[in-house]
Amino acid sequence: MADKKFKRIGVLTSGGDAPGMNAAVRSVVRTAIQNGVEVMGIIGGYRGLVENDMKLLDARDVANIINHGGTMLFTDRCLEFKEESGLQKAVATCRENKIDGLVCIGGDGTFRGAQDLTRRGIPCIGIPGTIDNDISATDYTIGYDTAMNTVVDLVDKLRDTCESHARCNVVEVMGRNAGYIAINTGLATGAVGIAIEEFPFDLDGTIEKMKELKKAKKRNFIVIVSEAFGNEYSENLAKRIEKETEIETKFARLAHVQRGGRPTLRDRELASLMGYKAVELLLDGKSNLVVCIRDEVICGIDIEYALTYDKLCKGKIKAEDITGYSQEQVAKMVADAKIREDRMRTSYEIASKISI
Ligand code: ADP
Repeated sequence: MADKKFKRIGVLTSGGDAPGMNAAVRSVVRTAIQNGVEVMGIIGGYRGLVENDMKLLDARDVANIINHGGTMLFTDRCLEFKEESGLQKAVATCRENKIDGLVCIGGDGTFRGAQDLTRRGIPCIGIPGTIDNDISATDYTIGYDTAMNTVVDLVDKLRDTCESHARCNVVEVMGRNAGYIAINTGLATGAVGIAIEEFPFDLDGTIEKMKELKKAKKRNFIVIVSEAFGNEYSENLAKRIEKETEIETKFARLAHVQRGGRPTLRDRELASLMGYKAVELLLDGKSNLVVCIRDEVICGIDIEYALTYDKLCKGKIKAEDITGYSQEQVAKMVADAKIREDRMRTSYEIASKISI
């Protein structure tokens, strides 16, 4: 697949870290080396480009990282890179270090940066690395599976002690504004209630259900809450549940523990396949794509399309966002968004129906 034009590429991790980013870096480095292409590891995301902080990586430099959370390249949020002057510094750094293209691992902010660089002559390919699974163009993002397994592990522990003491535990989970972690961990831990922004939460119904279940001798109650509502909401929810159900209720915010730890098999597999695909696309002369997995197929999707589709899925789309797309493309986006929402709704409804 090697295109003679590529002698050296760069790889960076940017935005919030996610378990499996290391596995993606390893895959990128080794795929490139297999194709006779050198790899520069950019340190601290886009800041490393702005400040010319990087190191050449060989196959051994990425040894023994596939099993580690965090990112060996470190990550940062670089505001300077969002300004034209910062971007120009990043482009100059790429030229100076003879970097012919970049693989950028991160979330939607990272992809906007990748788009800006591509437009200025540095071809970029994005890889979705975020625990939140909030990149709508892909069914799964790297880190999401590990984060969910961490939540399940911790909630199982809370459940043990809830059962002993006949308690409820309200658990706030991450996911930013997206309820994916909450829904799926709620389903997998047998939560009696799941509060997410996407669908209305029937608090009164949940409280009534808990009272009935208490009478039927249920002893452990788990309520999963998305962080999207903010800190006060979940803490107050615990107080209200305790007051109205007369079940002792504790509150737990799992916070950043969800962002670390050994990546699961799924995340390592996804990261390895996506890293390979990203380099393949880059060396084939493609750019401005984000590597996605859709119905188990790894593919490249135009970043602009992916960001527009993401806005549509999140209900943030404006008329001017879709002027560049044909009617068929818009119809496809709407149909795909509906499938994604329907899948989420089905899991949400099933979780509620079987927590009796
Ligand atoms: P994530 O990639 O996880 O969404 P951020 O939104 O913090 O995380 O973005 C990571 C980095 O990408 C930022 O620190 C910044 O350097 C760059 N970035 C974010 N948004 C933009 C943008 N609109 N244009 C260019 N670069 C951006």
